Amino acid sequence: TQEETQAFWKSSQKLIRYGGSWSNVIVTKAKGTVMWDASGRRILDFTSGQMSSLLGHGHPEICEVVDDGMQNLDHIFSAMITKPVVELAERLTDMLPPQLNRCMFLSTGSETNECALKMAKMYTGGYEVVSLSASYHGMTHGSGAATFSVGRKGYGPQLPGNFTLPVPYAYRSRFRHPDGSYDWKSELDYGWSLIDCQSTGALACVIIEPIVSTGGIITLPEGYLKEMKKHCEKRGMLLIVDEAQTGMGRTGDMFAFKHEGVIPDILTLSKTLGAGLPLGATICSEEIERVCNERGFFYYTTHLNDPLVCAVGAKVCEIVERDDFPAQARRKGEVLKEGLLNLQEKYPCIGDVRGRGLMMGIEIVLDPETKEPADSLGTAISARAMETGLSCNVVQLKGMGGTFRIAPPLTISEDEIREGVDILDKAFAYVLE
Ligand code: PMP
Repeated sequence: TQEETQAFWKSSQKLIRYGGSWSNVIVTKAKGTVMWDASGRRILDFTSGQMSSLLGHGHPEICEVVDDGMQNLDHIFSAMITKPVVELAERLTDMLPPQLNRCMFLSTGSETNECALKMAKMYTGGYEVVSLSASYHGMTHGSGAATFSVGRKGYGPQLPGNFTLPVPYAYRSRFRHPDGSYDWKSELDYGWSLIDCQSTGALACVIIEPIVSTGGIITLPEGYLKEMKKHCEKRGMLLIVDEAQTGMGRTGDMFAFKHEGVIPDILTLSKTLGAGLPLGATICSEEIERVCNERGFFYYTTHLNDPLVCAVGAKVCEIVERDDFPAQARRKGEVLKEGLLNLQEKYPCIGDVRGRGLMMGIEIVLDPETKEPADSLGTAISARAMETGLSCNVVQLKGMGGTFRIAPPLTISEDEIREGVDILDKAFAYVLE
């Protein structure tokens, strides 16, 4: 009733605001690729929750594992290890190159990156951390200091020794030539030349997303990550690849680093690994694990190696491999891309369509020639899409048009993809008319 809704919003004021604004939709149920609001309206989920619900909401096999975990083995003292934890380590390392063979299971992306950064510092003896200018690696102090997209202001000095390289943003880079070619190598070299000036000689690692998501679904140019690895090796640094969003098949490869032909020194997984439940993994080589431990590495959390979520992670690995979700993401990604490119033909304000597999972005501009960023247009269109049954997310960093991030569950059907694109189409038409 109206009174209940009013009471709900009044009570919601008890929540600490996170810095952005709450959605005005009260979601009461989520199943598969669909959510429902309090009035029973059906909303297609084009963001997999917070980019996490890889297998849709309430996947029956995951429900069974959660139920079994709650009945039989939920959470125990963190210094104890259990079968589901070891099974997850086995399954994950089987999916990875042989040198990535040591795992620690944590709850969130921030924690996995915090752990990876500490390992890199311990291993190299350095403390300086390099990340991209539109990066997002978390909200804790270490991961937050390596995050240059949002959340940096108001806490006093960040950690010392955090440097940034320009995000390789082909669409807008100053190193893009009038003929459309993009000299990302010169941009990267220039970036490193500035870091070399600032460094105190204690560089520890680069941390990087293979597709820069919060920064606007920016894919790395071909060969970029390889070049980055060379820079790391030259300077004695480790390469940490953060696959919070890209891991577990979303981009069409089981892990996006495979597409780049580079093996990270440390890999972090979160969001998609738990398919909506809080699970993350920091994964490294035997050598890094050994050296860190010899030097007194200590990293321990309440939910370290929790059996219930690790059982979920093991099931996610099993399903993603069994049902070949990387191939599904490639195939369905083509359907999505085609739909988005058709929209671009229809609406010139779509300046750029980018991404890979089921992780796509469209950037909204005022004029495709000048690429002048459209400030509120993307948000208005996504608000209309939400009203008409589609949930998507728009990020808007400085100097960028609002960018839709589209990353539906990999279980989505091709018909649902077309339905979502159709809702977007109508939302563009409605707002632009
Ligand atoms: N890394 C990446 C690439 C992310 O997108 C996020 C979350 N947006 C994080 C790390 C942080 O994860 P969490 O919010 O689970 O701490």
